[in-house]
Amino acid sequence: MALAFDEYGRPFIILKEQDQKTRLRGIEAQKANISAGKAVARILRTSLGPKGMDKILQSPDGDVTITNDGATILEQMDVDNQIAKLMVELSRSQDYEIGDGTTGVVVMAGALLEQAERLLERGIHPIRVAEGYEMASRIAVEHLEHISKKFDFEATNIEPLVQTCMTTLSSKIVNRCKRHLAEISVKAVLSVADLDRKDVNLDMIKVEGKVGGKLEDTELIYGITVDKDMSHPQMPKQIEDAKIAILTCPFEPPKPKTKHKVDIDTVEKFQTLRLQEQKYFDDMVQKCKDVGATLVICQWGFDDEANHLLMHRNLPAVRWVGGVELELIAIATGGRIVPRFQELTPEKLGRAGLVREKSFGTTKDKMLYIEHCANSRAVTIFIRGGNKMMIEETKRSIHDALCVARNLIRNNSIVYGGGSAEISCSIAVEAAADKYPGVEQYAIRAFADALDSVPMALAENSGLQPIETLSAVKSQQIKENNPHYGIDCNDVGTNNMRQQDVFETLIGKQQQILLATQVVKMILKIDDVISPSDY
Ligand code: ADP
Ligand code: MG
Repeated sequence: MALAFDEYGRPFIILKEQDQKTRLRGIEAQKANISAGKAVARILRTSLGPKGMDKILQSPDGDVTITNDGATILEQMDVDNQIAKLMVELSRSQDYEIGDGTTGVVVMAGALLEQAERLLERGIHPIRVAEGYEMASRIAVEHLEHISKKFDFEATNIEPLVQTCMTTLSSKIVNRCKRHLAEISVKAVLSVADLDRKDVNLDMIKVEGKVGGKLEDTELIYGITVDKDMSHPQMPKQIEDAKIAILTCPFEPPKPKTKHKVDIDTVEKFQTLRLQEQKYFDDMVQKCKDVGATLVICQWGFDDEANHLLMHRNLPAVRWVGGVELELIAIATGGRIVPRFQELTPEKLGRAGLVREKSFGTTKDKMLYIEHCANSRAVTIFIRGGNKMMIEETKRSIHDALCVARNLIRNNSIVYGGGSAEISCSIAVEAAADKYPGVEQYAIRAFADALDSVPMALAENSGLQPIETLSAVKSQQIKENNPHYGIDCNDVGTNNMRQQDVFETLIGKQQQILLATQVVKMILKIDDVISPSDY
């Protein structure tokens, strides 16, 4: 595209290769963009809430993902419309900042777009709509602050944290054992959290999975796991207070080089050679024992004879451990990787409170747990499940729960869920609209209506009459001046979300509203779409 001027100095735009491009301008462009955005939101709408539907997505190479997580659905969907991509970005940024609420944010943006479309049809300029939305979002965010509750927890009383994580997990496929997973997530976060600085480094929590067992067998390990086993089945399965030698050098006698000529012409000479080799290895084992190692973790293998000897000398060993895992072990246990055998010294040993080999049921699968490491509080959440898809979805759900717990540690304010916060904001925004004399008033009202779409979607997905349910709850909120009434998705019998213990973090909800507004404003401000036309 280039800007040029005609002979009277009037500017005009030259579209290069005009015939190969399509162009939408003005209201046409906005309408096309809005409908693209709405289309994406419509896909996610049915996934919102505890009764939301799951999606199955197949990648080009045939991998199947089953998920309920908004960010994941959009990530895996192959969208090529620019505006649709913005919605994907929207969900991703919510995921990045907050971790939870990725579906809700897109539903909210979709509703805002839908309302904007009506306003545009009535002839209101997009910029006015955008400004009105901006004002309304500020009112809503403030109102959220106003209805939020501080909620206290201590490292000893984790129940409130667990409850919040349970709300997050209740809308996932894994909600069958949400209590168990929520407890694991909270314990994991608390064990790596820095409560003084109010920060949590989620990188310290590794989430691993192995197919097999049940979801209920998922456990929290105060340490790291390595997908290896002891090199000999008769070695001890459990080593307390382990001192670990981490070797990247071969742990076996050097092989005779073929260049050398060894003349062996008698049985005795062969015996001597054999004994020599044995002694060589024996010395190596002795050296390990001398520096105090009680476990050897080796990047290389050793042959069966060496293995047997190690077992005899009572020095448990693990072989063929990958480089990455070796580094992880070294960092966690505070040990040093020893590249040459001569360099092995007592200071270079890593330390761990407990190293144990765990075997899983009747399968031959074994893993090594290195727990209570000296140098690190890193923990591992070890997921079990019937198949790979389940484990992947559990990983994503746990990620959400971990993020929620982290957010609460950063800022312990909460608002109640089930759409109650949105309804309360909607009432507040609606009331504030009257104070604005300009055209923005319409946009602000439209914003209030858009806020209602979240509880409506929740009701719809739970098989309730959306409009009737919403209006009943809304009037209840107004009548009793109580922002805790929401949608009773699970048919518990009360729609007081406080009694149901359904809550979400304040920053998560605020972020949802802010991000959704921002994207919608951005979409509304686009009035020219130039794209290569299809062939
Ligand atoms: P997101 O990806 O946006 O987190 P979810 O599918 O997790 O989407 O749904 C979250 C919505 O479901 C929130 O509005 C939350 O308040 C609501 N919700 C979660 N659990 C319940 C429940 N037990 N009863 C009512 N609403 C719930
Ligand atoms: Mg959620």
